[in-house]
Amino acid sequence: MSKPINILFVSSEVDPFAKTGGLADVSSALPKAIKEQGHEIRIMMPRYRFISERKFKLHDIIRLKDIPVPIGNDTPFGNVKSSFISSLKEKVQVYFLDNEKFYGRDGVYQSPTSKKDYKDNDERFIFFCRGVLETLKRLGWQPDIIHCNDWQTGLIPAYLKTVYQDDPLLRKVKTIFTIHNMAYQGAFPLESFETSNLPKETFRTDGVEAYGKFNFLKAGLIYSDTITTVSEKYSHEICDSDEYGAGLNGVLHTRKKDLRGILNGIDYTIWNPLTDPHIYRKYDIKSIDAKIENKRALVTKFGLEFDETTPVIGAISRLVEQKGFDLVLDSLDELMKQKVQFVLLGSGDPELEKQFDKFQKKFPKQMGIAFGYDEELAHLIEAGSDLFLMPSKYEPCGLNQMYSMRYGTIPVVRATGGLDDTVEDYAGTGKGTGFKFEKFDSKELMKAVLRAIKVFHQPDEWKKLMRNGMLKDFSWEHSASKYISLYKDLLRQ
Ligand code: ADP
Repeated sequence: MSKPINILFVSSEVDPFAKTGGLADVSSALPKAIKEQGHEIRIMMPRYRFISERKFKLHDIIRLKDIPVPIGNDTPFGNVKSSFISSLKEKVQVYFLDNEKFYGRDGVYQSPTSKKDYKDNDERFIFFCRGVLETLKRLGWQPDIIHCNDWQTGLIPAYLKTVYQDDPLLRKVKTIFTIHNMAYQGAFPLESFETSNLPKETFRTDGVEAYGKFNFLKAGLIYSDTITTVSEKYSHEICDSDEYGAGLNGVLHTRKKDLRGILNGIDYTIWNPLTDPHIYRKYDIKSIDAKIENKRALVTKFGLEFDETTPVIGAISRLVEQKGFDLVLDSLDELMKQKVQFVLLGSGDPELEKQFDKFQKKFPKQMGIAFGYDEELAHLIEAGSDLFLMPSKYEPCGLNQMYSMRYGTIPVVRATGGLDDTVEDYAGTGKGTGFKFEKFDSKELMKAVLRAIKVFHQPDEWKKLMRNGMLKDFSWEHSASKYISLYKDLLRQ
């Protein structure tokens, strides 16, 4: 094998320490898969207060105590703790940048009670980006690559290309920036820019400025050596349209030759119906009939009556505009005329929660709703549902449709981003893995659901679809190889 590559993978959330969405899953599974292919990779994230020192056996790294991190006119200190995540074969070291003022909170980006973003998110992630680089200097570790993820890490490439450009340890480090969602950009007022201590001349349209604001995501897009996003289709959508590019499509266009789509994988050590400790009855493709016991357990848990011939539609999601649940709300009266049951696990927009609650009261025999974040229930919904609904307005990759297919649960999705890349529309005679609709419209959604229900009532045909999905290989191995070959390309430049 060629020489191992040294990579620092930087992310604001990593499962199982902190998770608000798919970024955490990726930030845990991808480094493990890269390490399994023989490379040296370590992870770095903030140490939020809720990350339990005892549960995760965090320990201080003595020589990483009291690292000065210049921000604005101040120089607060960080210190670094360490832990590991493990795959079946490998352990990956995780560094946590600790600072009580910035991360001594109960939420990742927002207060769990007010559901409002922390007002100092600019400073929190300025401190993080610069703190990561200062930690490397203190460690004396020179990674070949720093792999940055989303806006929270966007300033790292900018610092490297400016403040640290002559630093003997860091000047040769290459960066890759992965976009998990263009809509979250970390755009802050000019005063935040001053706090960052980036050179004044970077606050320009070909630098970190966008629409008069200091934009962390844009910093990542402009200053990184290469850019990826999490599906092929999304990589085109964000370049080609204002709506998907969220105002930065022009910037992406200028870097089109450096932008690649690499589909996320899923972690089969966590999402596998044959070994899943959270489900009622384990099964795989050979014992597919046992899935029904999970359906029984699921509907019972939601206080609904079990009937084998009633299709159960499941959904698990952040309840935000992106996920398209307004289409579901628009369709519910119509949908409930069918013999179906619908179970939803979600948290987010209080207004959407209120509306779903109202419908649940209107259709108590057909609808079950759980608000909040519940890992265990998420697994049971994947195992116990017949159909899984993802009507997203846009979806960079999406993980749940891939989990669903693994669990023999048929996804009904809008044909956007990673949903379009991973689901094959039912094409009759046992072909396909799910049901897709193109236009973001509740009538189109209903048509797709009705098509699915019709096939559900043809059990032989339905089983073929279940099998097609269960046989798909969405493991990380393949995607990890693509990232590794990208790292190699970068190091050759
Ligand atoms: P996004 O990152 O946009 O939220 P993804 O589909 O990429 O969407 O990933 C979502 C991840 O978060 C999945 O692992 C999903 O199961 C999980 N998830 C979302 N909402 C909840 C919830 N309320 N409870 C448990 N897990 C959830």
